Amino acid sequence: MKLHELTIHQARSLLKSGEISALELTTAAIDRILQVDNEVKAYLTLTPEQALEQARQADARWDAGEDIPLLGIPLAIKDVICTEGIPTTCGSKILENFIPPYSATVIERLRAAGAVILGKTNTDEFAMGSSTENSAYFTTHNPWDLSRVPGGSSGGSAAAIAADECLGALGSDTGGSVRQPAALCGVVGIKPTYGRVSRYGLVAFASSLDQIGSFGKDVTDCALLLSVISGYDPRDSTSVNRPVPDYQAALLPDVRGMRLGVPREYFIEGMQPEVETAVRAAIDLLAEMGAEIVDISLPHTEHALPVYYIIAPAEASANLARYDGVKYGFSFPDATDVWDAYRKTRQYGFGAEVKRRIMLGTYALSAGYYDAYYLKAQQVRTLIKQDFDRAFELCDVIVCPTAPTTAFKIGEKADDPLQMYLSDVFTLSASLAGLPGLSLPCGFDGEGLPIGLQIMGQTFDEPTVLRVAYAYEQATDWHTRTPTL
Ligand code: GLN
Repeated sequence: MKLHELTIHQARSLLKSGEISALELTTAAIDRILQVDNEVKAYLTLTPEQALEQARQADARWDAGEDIPLLGIPLAIKDVICTEGIPTTCGSKILENFIPPYSATVIERLRAAGAVILGKTNTDEFAMGSSTENSAYFTTHNPWDLSRVPGGSSGGSAAAIAADECLGALGSDTGGSVRQPAALCGVVGIKPTYGRVSRYGLVAFASSLDQIGSFGKDVTDCALLLSVISGYDPRDSTSVNRPVPDYQAALLPDVRGMRLGVPREYFIEGMQPEVETAVRAAIDLLAEMGAEIVDISLPHTEHALPVYYIIAPAEASANLARYDGVKYGFSFPDATDVWDAYRKTRQYGFGAEVKRRIMLGTYALSAGYYDAYYLKAQQVRTLIKQDFDRAFELCDVIVCPTAPTTAFKIGEKADDPLQMYLSDVFTLSASLAGLPGLSLPCGFDGEGLPIGLQIMGQTFDEPTVLRVAYAYEQATDWHTRTPTL
């Protein structure tokens, strides 16, 4: 096995035993990037010198007898997470030359755990999208079929994992942006409970929904990364002060007696039949393994999409007001006066989807419409949350598809926002309810494209979500398959 193909936990034990060095591992990851990223295009920025230096430091610390969770492990970071001294563009022209003067809390935590940062991965502009086609720079290609999208908005991170261009990665998920690309790229991704991971230094899209999540080649890696980034942060008032459970200890290959809820609203007309078949087969397997399958209903599911597309743009329109060309980022150079400067900076700095969201959100928040749209959407959001509360009286986790289709062709949905929005129809509800959700591979379609199984849990019950995922993964070998590049 080549070094870049290792999982984090495999690499860790080889580093610990001294069989490999962090420098060798990081060099292998960088070589792999140089070999395949001209086709995959997962990275916006590479930081090889810093990475090699961090690897050397990691080797010195291993030699000194230190053993911390990610010592010498090369990772990729979605480019919406601030990294001190390293460009953070959010996939937008408006932040093309932005170099943050500070790092996000999650970056500090990764570095404190010894991680090596390889670079920043591509994303839809400000994480608005489901394919990375909204990146102002380029589209990332799905390693399983380069003519297809990797999903989004964290498509760069998911593709980087699938192509073995890093061992683990961080993404952000506002309505599905970790889980959906994980599904489309055949990797594991978890969006934790809202408040579990600090958002300090995550460039804001929709503040009541945004969460940082982790990607791995398997459930164990995903859990390991999650345990490093989780925890209270006084710099994020929405982070919750509550102990972080031992996620590794939750990884038991046993689902006997567990109640898995299967929501009837998540098997809909229009979804790809092979997705339904694979997900139903996964549920059958979990039943054979001793889980109890419970039919449940989440009756307000059909409202999740319209509710999300009021609330997320409303919050985005407020959050993105800060890009005025004055404080940082792109500034239109030849403005005639201050209003012209604001207008042109935003006209040339933002792409079409971001402008669409700002307009939708501004409209939904404007006097006279606020009650009809924003307030109403918040009320329906509560109903969606209550659906889950009721469902979790009957089951321990909810299992369903992550996305209605496998990876679609680049360009196929780019001009049809509604079709694009529908790729998140199964992930939006957990975001609106603030619940944890994980996607892991559960099969392939006839074209050889990966299919994702979504497991949603109760608030702060990541351990049960991870346990069901781990048990399923242990019983199958989907996660061991890799694309040929
Ligand atoms: N695709 C959804 C959107 O465009 C979700 C994106 C995300 O989770 N960041 O808003």
